[in-house]
Amino acid sequence: MARTRFVCGNWKMHKTQAEARELVRALGALLAPVAGRVQVAVAPPFTALSAVQAALAGSAVELAAQDVHWEKQGAFTGEVSAPMLLDAGCRHAIVGHSERRQLFGETDETVRKKVVALLGVGILPIVCVGETLAEREAGRTLEVVGRQVQNALQGLPAPDVARLTVAYEPVWAIGTGKTATPAQAQEVHGAIRSLLRDLAGEAAERVRIQYGGSVKPDNAAELMALPDVDGALVGGAALKADDFIQIIRGAIR
Ligand code: PEP
Repeated sequence: MARTRFVCGNWKMHKTQAEARELVRALGALLAPVAGRVQVAVAPPFTALSAVQAALAGSAVELAAQDVHWEKQGAFTGEVSAPMLLDAGCRHAIVGHSERRQLFGETDETVRKKVVALLGVGILPIVCVGETLAEREAGRTLEVVGRQVQNALQGLPAPDVARLTVAYEPVWAIGTGKTATPAQAQEVHGAIRSLLRDLAGEAAERVRIQYGGSVKPDNAAELMALPDVDGALVGGAALKADDFIQIIRGAIR
């Protein structure tokens, strides 16, 4: 099945509102020729969501959040809920990023609850999974990634699975300049697709599986040409309009 490729820029904890507007303006001018051929989203920090939403008006670029809390509202200081993200104009939200798993106590169970909360309001989750270097070196990559996918999707009906994006992000490749080789990426993406088939049947063919981890203009096209790589989750290179656009061009079939 032909899946529209999907590239999302994760800005992490970067950009004031003014800087965010400036980046969106630069992207807008460069993106016009690729509009409609690749799905594109940007995930600014919460404080810049509304500035970016306003700056994106009339563009095909979609708004994403970097995280969410699973409750709708309540005494959860510092958290932001799925209905709030919807209200802020988000179409997507990243969950389970390895930085959240490693630094902020995210678990497979909180990822699952976040996926349910997002789907409940119609926001499309981007579920991040990936192994550490120690896990890869111990030959545990497929076991770890398989467990993360299976736990995130537990109990979801197949039509909901079809609405997900899974981002395979080897932890050792994030922000390090080290990228998975095409063979390493395809091995894991293929395994994720086959697990999704076991869990959700035909819906698996509709799930986009992004690769993330030091995606740059010079490696994006090769990675996204792989059969089960349907786009990219881009960190550092998404902060520079020229680099991000070159990566998006690499996603055009
Ligand atoms: C990320 O944080 O999702 C990521 C892939 O970062 P980078 O592209 O900088 O490795």
